[in-house]
Amino acid sequence: MKKIEKFSFGMGDRFAHQGKAQLQAILDARARGIELAPVWNKSNREHTIVKSEPISVRREAEAAVAALGWKGPWHVDADHISLSNVDRFIEASDFYTIDVADFTGKAAEPVEIAAFVKAVEKFLGPLAIPGLTQPLQIDRATVEKTAAKFLWSMQEAGRIHRHIAKLKGNEFIAEVSVDETDQPQTPVELLLILFMLAREKVPVQTIAPKFTGRFNKGVDYVGDLAKFEKEFDEDLCVVRFAVAEFGLPDTLKLSVHSGSDKFSLYKIINRLLKKHNAGAHVKTAGTTWLEEVIGLAEAGGEGLAIAKDIYAGAHGRFDELVKPYATVVDITPGKLPSPAEVNAWNSDDFCAALRHDLASPRYNLHFRQLVHVSFKIAAEMGARYISALQANEAIIARNVTGNLFDRHILPLFA
Ligand SMILES: [Zn+2]
Repeated sequence: MKKIEKFSFGMGDRFAHQGKAQLQAILDARARGIELAPVWNKSNREHTIVKSEPISVRREAEAAVAALGWKGPWHVDADHISLSNVDRFIEASDFYTIDVADFTGKAAEPVEIAAFVKAVEKFLGPLAIPGLTQPLQIDRATVEKTAAKFLWSMQEAGRIHRHIAKLKGNEFIAEVSVDETDQPQTPVELLLILFMLAREKVPVQTIAPKFTGRFNKGVDYVGDLAKFEKEFDEDLCVVRFAVAEFGLPDTLKLSVHSGSDKFSLYKIINRLLKKHNAGAHVKTAGTTWLEEVIGLAEAGGEGLAIAKDIYAGAHGRFDELVKPYATVVDITPGKLPSPAEVNAWNSDDFCAALRHDLASPRYNLHFRQLVHVSFKIAAEMGARYISALQANEAIIARNVTGNLFDRHILPLFA
């Protein structure tokens, strides 16, 4: 089995032009003593919208690694795959995010639920877990409810894992994600989910639960910070316990599907990782696409014209573009500027509205979220968009690298 490093950082690149700028942020981190394994992630959903093939992500990563002389480990993540679409990722990826959220709630065979409940019996009652001040309370009713909700989906994770292993052997990293479910998972549910995976013999190395609060795309966290801190603290203890008790890989760690830009959580995550001497995988994605648009707007001329056209197109196709992301954006249409207003903006106005600077009164999180989901418009521009990326490579790269390093990596890992 291929093992994941202690700290890894996921980066998405919709149009496959920012690999070098992203890797530069990892090199900048290394210069500050922060060792991160870069992971390029792209979901089937993104490939479908942009009309790209998974192998393009590997080619881009290889080119960036060669150009910058990166000697460390790196990975390509087939993000949020299922049995129905994983085959196209077999050659391109060495990291698979097995997404079984859609299967939660589908009941497993009663006999298998009964067998699971029986296997959990030894953990019933107050369960002392190293690192936790309070023992976890695990009762039979909770176990039965959790089995009814998750056992089938973890069996599905087993089916997907075996399918990948059959096609490519065991040299890959398995992540299991349940972050796109309706309800956040409690630490007890996380523990039971990990037990299910161990029983399914899935050598899971990163687990992505749904945490409490809203993780909207490209904007800051919305939720109770104290509640998140307590939950994350407990989850870290649960993960360590699961490694010791269930025989899961000792590299197992939490994966935070951040939706990018969860600035108010980063300092909490940083503190807790240090407290527990724990590793983590943190995924970002659309934040790089937004920096591309910022870079184009900053460049002015045709770059700014493209940025405005993307917004005008997105504004006119709001429902269509928001639909695939409906559960992970919160856009108030009344807070969006009209395309006519935006067309009158200069570079500075556009960048100030879009750039994720919480201290700036001109920052507009509704505008930012709409641009986040509008990469389809840029994909439809085809050569016009790609030529602009090439023509403005330096200015975009500065934004991409600076955003990842200053706003994400330093607060999370320094
Ligand atoms: Zn996710």
